[in-house]
Amino acid sequence: MAVDKILICKTCGKEFVFTASEQEFFASKGFTNEPTRCKDCRAKMRQEREERQTTAVCSSCGKTEAVSFKVTHPELLLCEDCFQKLKPAPPPQADEQTPPPGELVVME
Ligand SMILES: [Zn+2]
Ligand SMILES: [Zn+2]
Repeated sequence: MAVDKILICKTCGKEFVFTASEQEFFASKGFTNEPTRCKDCRAKMRQEREERQTTAVCSSCGKTEAVSFKVTHPELLLCEDCFQKLKPAPPPQADEQTPPPGELVVME
């Protein structure tokens, strides 16, 4: 039978309760690690992540794009559409079936 546990938050250093029902929930999900952050810090982290996700603006068309990574060079950021448009075309594949001009052998 699980009992409430007092854990110390890694971020703010405050004590928080890892309740019996939370422990059961963790166990049911197969998590073996205990939470390392209190609810406040977890909520703050989630909020910061969401804010980051909504601030990505395409440098080409100005469209706002939701991204999950941290934008370090917003001036270089492109949305999916512009990225596809501006991406250099792949070099033409050398066709091995056609010999280069000058090496054509005419069979007569
Ligand atoms: Zn905390
Ligand atoms: Zn764009």
